[in-house]
Amino acid sequence: MNGYFDAQGSVYEVYALRYATHCDRRSGENYLGDDPHDDIAMPLDFYCWVLRGAGRIVLVDTGCDAATAQRRERRYLHSPISLLRELGIDPADVQDLIVTHMHYDHAGNLSAFSNATIHIQEAEMQYCTGRCMCHAAMRKPFETLDVCAAIERLHAGRVQFANGDRQIAPGIDVHLIGGHTAGLQVVRVQTARGQVVLASDAAHYWDHVRSKRPFPIVQDVPRMLDGHRAIEALADGPDHIIPGHDPAVRLRFPRWRGHPDITALHLPPVAATSAVGYAATPALAL
Ligand SMILES: [Zn+2]
Ligand SMILES: [Zn+2]
Repeated sequence: MNGYFDAQGSVYEVYALRYATHCDRRSGENYLGDDPHDDIAMPLDFYCWVLRGAGRIVLVDTGCDAATAQRRERRYLHSPISLLRELGIDPADVQDLIVTHMHYDHAGNLSAFSNATIHIQEAEMQYCTGRCMCHAAMRKPFETLDVCAAIERLHAGRVQFANGDRQIAPGIDVHLIGGHTAGLQVVRVQTARGQVVLASDAAHYWDHVRSKRPFPIVQDVPRMLDGHRAIEALADGPDHIIPGHDPAVRLRFPRWRGHPDITALHLPPVAATSAVGYAATPALAL
């Protein structure tokens, strides 16, 4: 599938913005069917991502707001909007917003990006407004107001749907993965170091791809496992897969101007794939 869409020479800077963390999380919360005897500390971070280059800015996910983080007992570090401003980006200037899926930690703050067109999979919109939401367990990771905000944007004529693989701009394409939610999509972006895949919740940690084990918030287990293989096929190598919630992202890649919570993913890693990861995660200074 590599090279399926023509990048037309466009390359992008890619930044991970860490806006929140869940420090006291256990490994048993991160693997489906994990043995409780093996339970160890395994913190989880929350990110959104910025693609900048070829005369455009594309935001991937919008995080959540402070009130939502507090209600769900996540430690809020920054508003994603303030992190964007530190990068010199005004939210009103964001024209294209890729929403990987509609979970609360990826699709909040939509009203702050009122000029943006939302790019989402048709299956995701159907999922978060359809019969699966009759079940409390399935709708728990969604915020009703986020879903309403996406519908509002749709009725304003500023939602573009994908149905599988789609190019958003030269060098930026989305790919339907599903599994975690029915319409979860990943983003592949051309950088100076090759094709980077922002896996979002198709891989919460690098270890999910390595160990081929599923995360417990799941809509379709075999599809989630197929997704690990799909993102490996899309990326130019293990260091080109960026997991959606792994604290090791900030150890592996250079910090932008030394900022503790803005990481430059278009630059070569400063630590090898095997040097940091699941085993090292409990020791991270958060
Ligand atoms: Zn999710
Ligand atoms: Zn998530």
